Amino acid sequence: MVKKEECVFCHILAGTAPSSPVYDDPICFAFMDIQPINAGHTLVIPIKHASYLADLDGDTLAHMAKVGQRIAGALRQCGLPCEGINFFLADGKAAGQDVFHTHLHILPRFEGDGFGFRFPDGYAVLPTRDELEATAARIRDALTG
Ligand SMILES: [Zn+2]
Repeated sequence: MVKKEECVFCHILAGTAPSSPVYDDPICFAFMDIQPINAGHTLVIPIKHASYLADLDGDTLAHMAKVGQRIAGALRQCGLPCEGINFFLADGKAAGQDVFHTHLHILPRFEGDGFGFRFPDGYAVLPTRDELEATAARIRDALTG
């Protein structure tokens, strides 16, 4: 757990670190990623510090997604190269989270931009239906447990 006082995004929200904003409201704030994958790469963050996805209330997350949808529309219209959009939220270090204040990446994409997902060895081998069912049962149990 990163303390709020040590969080670079909280510093941005407080105005004690610089940012290039594109949107703000009482619930969330959106600004340019300082190391964009493509021009227009935007981050949407909650105003209230939340280190991880589980620390966010559902309404705030839903609002962040709605704001992300508006930004995606703006990215498609603003003249930057943008043939598609990825939403990406890394929850935890193993998932690639690097700032521990939850943030939703809004990432403009275009053919040949060089970015992409790398699939693990064995990805081409599909699981059996029994394996899929066993995995689904574990998740269902966790949802209801
Ligand atoms: Zn923070």
